[in-house]
Amino acid sequence: MSAESGPGRREQVASLWAATELSRDLDLERLAQRVVESVTAVTDFAVATLTVRHGESCRRIAAAGVDDARIGLETPYAGWLDLLREDYRQRSSCFVIPPQATGADWMQTVPVAAPGAGDAREAWTTDHGLIVELLGDDGERIGFLSVDAPRSGCLPDDTELEHIEVFARQAQSALRNAHLHEEVRRQRDAAEALNAVGRAVSGSLELREVLRLCCDAVVEHSAGDRASIYLHDPETGRFRTVMSRGSEPDPRLWEVFRNLPPMGADEVPVFGQVMRTGEPALIERVTTEHVDMRALEMFSLKSVAVYPMQWGAQLTGLLLVDTFREHIEFPAHEVDLVGRIAGQAAVAIHQAQLHEAARASAARADELYELTKQMTRTFDFDTIFRRIIEAVTARTDAFAVGLMEIDAGELVLRRSHLVRGGDDSPAPYQRLPIADMPPALWQRLSDDGSVVVPDVVAAGLQPYVRPQARSLLLAGHRDEGELALLLHVSSDRAAAFSRDDAAFVEGLVEVAALAMRNARLYDEARLAAERDGLTGLKNRRMYGIEVPPLLARATPTHPVSLAVLDIDDFKAVNDLHGHAAGDAALEHVADRIRRSVREDDSAYRLGGEEFAVVMPAASADEAVKVIDRVRRAVGVSRTGLVEVTISSGIAVAPLHGTDLDALFRAADAALYAAKAAGKNTVHLAVDRRG
Ligand code: GH3
Ligand code: MG
Ligand code: MG
Repeated sequence: MSAESGPGRREQVASLWAATELSRDLDLERLAQRVVESVTAVTDFAVATLTVRHGESCRRIAAAGVDDARIGLETPYAGWLDLLREDYRQRSSCFVIPPQATGADWMQTVPVAAPGAGDAREAWTTDHGLIVELLGDDGERIGFLSVDAPRSGCLPDDTELEHIEVFARQAQSALRNAHLHEEVRRQRDAAEALNAVGRAVSGSLELREVLRLCCDAVVEHSAGDRASIYLHDPETGRFRTVMSRGSEPDPRLWEVFRNLPPMGADEVPVFGQVMRTGEPALIERVTTEHVDMRALEMFSLKSVAVYPMQWGAQLTGLLLVDTFREHIEFPAHEVDLVGRIAGQAAVAIHQAQLHEAARASAARADELYELTKQMTRTFDFDTIFRRIIEAVTARTDAFAVGLMEIDAGELVLRRSHLVRGGDDSPAPYQRLPIADMPPALWQRLSDDGSVVVPDVVAAGLQPYVRPQARSLLLAGHRDEGELALLLHVSSDRAAAFSRDDAAFVEGLVEVAALAMRNARLYDEARLAAERDGLTGLKNRRMYGIEVPPLLARATPTHPVSLAVLDIDDFKAVNDLHGHAAGDAALEHVADRIRRSVREDDSAYRLGGEEFAVVMPAASADEAVKVIDRVRRAVGVSRTGLVEVTISSGIAVAPLHGTDLDALFRAADAALYAAKAAGKNTVHLAVDRRG
């Protein structure tokens, strides 16, 4: 906002205006008084009054020659019209009214002198009248100068009338000035009102604030009693009242009014008219042709003007100006001003709608951001899916949520969850060939990222949803240009999903894809850190981490055995058959170890062709049995593989030691003994105590 539009400047203008207003009123009334006094002083007439006309009513503003001046006396213009018959007109603007025509109760009756002897003119009676019309620039009557009680007791002759007309011209010019002044003031007020509305619209005011300002400006600058704004809902085509300001015929009725359901052109035909034409409808006398009975009877609505609130070609609402007290006309300047205010209100509403859309999308982004933070912090797929379900059900009317991966031309359901409905039968969309899907649907999904199906039956999509599902929302994530992940959200209600829901679920599937990718990377990284790349057995690092705590718990009644295994003459395998054959032999041995040990046992590749097996709760005998089973299994080789054998040494905690190094040394010594004994055999460590 500029400094100029601040309250200081507005107040200055207002006080300046108050000052000129005062001087204007004084000027007009003083001038009028001077005119009537001059008339009574200079002309034959002892009584003169000056009356101004405002539309249908007239007001006396000056009087001279009477005891009872009655300044401010209101008279109907219609009463004057009865007197101003064209056949009474004399000269250009004088009406000499014969006795039979007068008699309105507000007419002045003053005693009249008898005509002087020898005066040839007709005698004036108390019932005679003389009125001079005062015309505005446009030829409209703006007031009257009336005179009475001629001192001569006679009707005026032409010279006398000319005199009176001269004074009437003075009064007319004062009135014209006053009218001009009034017009300028009205324009200034209208400009100021529009300016204030415009500032409010472009300022940071709340929409309600702006609409209230618009309504207040309309009430102030129009003849209406109340201004209301109705918002248009493009989906239903109905109008809902959002703001109403002004005087109230009965406050209780306004409670009813405020709670009226949204109205359409079927109930309020004039709404339809304005929608069709885009022009204001100005109805001086409202009937049921225009509005429904309620409005007429409850509010005793007299006149109504309905202005379209248009932003571009789009109708955002209607601005209504109602009158309850009397039927009114709608002057052009008022229609122009209110029309402009309605335009400003439309801009404000459009801005608010844009703002709301931006806010909703920002809120959605915020929510997704929070979800991203939460979801990418966990590497557990079930937790990720639980968060997806929570997010979907919090925002949409979903009754089932599924997460599908696209794999070799098929949609494969990875997880599904029924939010409500109690039917726990598995989702029928476990594996769906993409080729079976309606191609248009798949195309839309690929192009737009999501697709909303308001009626799954009409769309022929029953095989893709649970039996009670009525509407469906699919959102896909693309990986390298191809759809890779799909969120499948369905509802038992038809048309349950909006475009806004689709936008949210689209964001959600991206978050889900990101979280799943993170989880997968994490799994891969963990595997790489924990496992040996060639054999898939746990590596030496894990051996160092996992085994010591097991050994620490070992007791003589619950011993823990450690076996060290080594391939016999492995160097020769490499040398004779090549490194690849050596690798294959390593994989073969690892595989046999894995299959032959018990569930609670753990196997490790310590390096090279050396392995370890840790057996909790295994006595020396049991351990030897297990490892000998491994030894025999290694011997049973698949065809095409180089045949290898293994040797193994076994030590038992606490018998041969309780820390890993001591136990390993004992097992390694046993292994050395096995090698020395000719290989392809299992040796138990020597009991140091025995
Ligand atoms: P012994 O019967 O006494 O155990 O004789 P050996 O030849 O098996 O023993 P040695 O420790 O001398 O040889 C081990 C060989 O294992 C040396 C190395 O070339 C080979 N080796 C170690 N790691 C790998 C591997 O990852 N792949 C292959 N192909 N060979 C490996
Ligand atoms: Mg070896
Ligand atoms: Mg070796």
